[in-house]
Amino acid sequence: MKDTVTLHGRRFEAAIPEADILAAVRRVADAIARDYKDRVPVFVGVLNGAFMFVSDFMKNYPHPCELTFVKLSSYRGLTSTGIVETLLDLPEEVEGRDVIILEDIVDTGRTLQELVHMFSNKNIKDFKIATLFYKADLYNGEYAIDYVGMDIPDQFIVGYGLDYKEQGRNLRDIYQLNQQPMINIVLFGKPGAGKGTQAAFLKERYNLQHISTGDVFRRNIKGGTELGNLAKSYIDKGELVPDEVTINMLREEVEAHPEAAGFIFDGFPRTTAQAEALDHFLESKDMGIHATIALEADDEVLVARLLERGKVSGRSDDQDESKIRNRFEEYNAKTAPLKDYYQQQGKFHSVNGIGEIQEITRRLSAVIDQL
Ligand code: AMP
Repeated sequence: MKDTVTLHGRRFEAAIPEADILAAVRRVADAIARDYKDRVPVFVGVLNGAFMFVSDFMKNYPHPCELTFVKLSSYRGLTSTGIVETLLDLPEEVEGRDVIILEDIVDTGRTLQELVHMFSNKNIKDFKIATLFYKADLYNGEYAIDYVGMDIPDQFIVGYGLDYKEQGRNLRDIYQLNQQPMINIVLFGKPGAGKGTQAAFLKERYNLQHISTGDVFRRNIKGGTELGNLAKSYIDKGELVPDEVTINMLREEVEAHPEAAGFIFDGFPRTTAQAEALDHFLESKDMGIHATIALEADDEVLVARLLERGKVSGRSDDQDESKIRNRFEEYNAKTAPLKDYYQQQGKFHSVNGIGEIQEITRRLSAVIDQL
């Protein structure tokens, strides 16, 4: 069993090994076999999640029996939608029979309610419910659950037939969603404000993945990639690289780190289009930005810092004051409006970027610790 699996960019951790699941399946099969040895029940598997349970259950059920399926669905992603759809209805042959529902999991009980409703006008002789997994803390208790494989805590699980956005059904073991809340932070500020320096400290302290779009461009330029060649002409003039290019690159960077406990975005977003694209992209992954923290510093301090950095960094855009001023103009025209964008979302924080490096890290940490 692997320690973790990643599905749609979310991390799931090992929770219930296959052997324990199979033991629970056998317990359910044995209990039902004792109660129904003199009858021929119709088992009704609830698709899609129960397919693996049903398969192993049937292999462990020793007496004559029949099997049919219904298909219901209430989950879309991580949260139950509350709306249960019937996708495959019940066949007629259940009339007058002993019916036993085989559910993979009972949590809120909404699916169960729909199931009971489905059978209510079918003239069933005897109706029982068996579930492999049971979230006792969450269940509304409306109907008795007759057979339970194992009680589980209220965690989102995948594997052994259960899915996260349709993936993970093929896993033999059960994994649970890593509930550690992600912290995603945008470090905001003019060139030279100290975003890169501070990101290096924050990523260690909070175990975050640092993505600097400027660094990614420079790596590509160094490697002579197509992206690098495209970005170079803009960067050399102190202009912004076109949004489409930068947004695609950013997406790839995030997707390359599905295991990350969170991200520090440094130098991204720099335009409203980028901020909107970031929000949409993160939302599609059930993620979001928690805070945008601006490092504030005076232009003249920044020009002096950048010229100083240019002497050692070799960055052409740091060595020429007119290019530096152009970067500030780009910032004022295109990036500064993002302050309003994040303020409207209640996510904007401002930190004085002048002072000792450690002191500034403390100021930033104070903001993050409050999130
Ligand atoms: P930086 O290292 O963040 O100062 O970025 C250096 C240069 O890379 C910028 O002046 C831009 O030309 C380019 N760049 C970095 N991030 C972005 C971005 N989010 N959008 C457009 N261009 C960017």
